[in-house]
Amino acid sequence: MSLNQATISANGVLRPTHVEVDLNRLTKNYHAIAAAVAPAKIMTILKANAYGHGLVEVAQHVVKLGAAYLGVAYLEEGILLREQGITAPILVLGGIIGNQVPQFLKHGLTLTASSVEKLEQINTTAQELGVKARVHLKIDTGMERIGVHYYNANQLLEAALACDHCLVEGIYSHFANADASDLTSAQEQLKRFNQVLAFYRQHNIARPPLCHMANSGAILQLPNSHFDMVRAGILFYGVYPSDEVAHTIKVKPALSWKSRVVYFKVVQPGHAVSYGSTWKSEVMTRVVTVPVGYGDGYFRGMSDKAQVIIRGKRYPVIGRICMDQLMVNISWETAYNNDEVILIGDTESGTRITAEDLAKWANTIPYEILTNINTRVPRIYCTQE
Ligand SMILES: *Cc1c(COP(=O)(O)O)cnc(C)c1O
Repeated sequence: MSLNQATISANGVLRPTHVEVDLNRLTKNYHAIAAAVAPAKIMTILKANAYGHGLVEVAQHVVKLGAAYLGVAYLEEGILLREQGITAPILVLGGIIGNQVPQFLKHGLTLTASSVEKLEQINTTAQELGVKARVHLKIDTGMERIGVHYYNANQLLEAALACDHCLVEGIYSHFANADASDLTSAQEQLKRFNQVLAFYRQHNIARPPLCHMANSGAILQLPNSHFDMVRAGILFYGVYPSDEVAHTIKVKPALSWKSRVVYFKVVQPGHAVSYGSTWKSEVMTRVVTVPVGYGDGYFRGMSDKAQVIIRGKRYPVIGRICMDQLMVNISWETAYNNDEVILIGDTESGTRITAEDLAKWANTIPYEILTNINTRVPRIYCTQE
């Protein structure tokens, strides 16, 4: 068992609220995805603190698992990994600003070239510094985020052929709707990407060795989009990208979020609980206080909707969720100080609360739940099953 660097620690006494990451589940999820997409390789997506699981620790783990590539959103995430000794190839997926290019090259990070201008900036900087830049070309086939439009892509592909200071090892695109049950739009994007790739055949030029398009939705639903490599994000963490997506690969959540009861009391009928006094009981009831709140990423919008597990049973969070604390109505049942409180996770008896449950209560998607568990919450790494 190991522990990451929490923002707040008390001389080794762990904060009662913490996240547990089961590395064995990550291993199993990885192997399940690898088996389904073979011979395509896996780029493990580690952006946003590895979807809340801890950037450096998860990176070290996937390197051991043999991930072909790591993917992050921002330059800074890539630099952090390099500073922590990760030497595996790392693609920065996001858009770049010209003055960042020297930093990419200094740290040996792979750049996304999303326009001819940016590609030329990269090439010029690499020439000045006397190095070769590792580059993946980004084609926009319908996301309208970054990338050269598929109908103008030849310009970028041609420009890349003339960039002597770039090693163009990849070309990629990104789906907007691969996790939907209706795959019409995703199929259209895939068709456009294939048309772009036809450039290489038409000119009798070898295409870059790493052609990739599939995110979790496409890993599950669009085998034709796996190409040379897939970009596995939320599925690797054991969570399905949407409610409608087909579960063609079995994965299990690796993350649990836990806390402990810090206070127990009896609340009189008609006495309101928490800010705004929005909740009161008509009967005498038992209420416990738990040291977690929206300042940890337990969204205030889940007030009066969320539930937690104590002693194997689900109980409602009552009144407004505070910055650092919340209250739970246990009716006339039993709970004691220091009892475990499960915010996300399961029990041996099978009671469970998932990131999807929190997403419903917060009116969002599980991605946002996971990536918002902030650094004030320490992460513990274990190997449970
Ligand atoms: C975040 C991201 C992914 C991973 O998406 P999931 O749905 O989590 O699998 C893949 N590719 C790009 C470009 C991304 O930004």
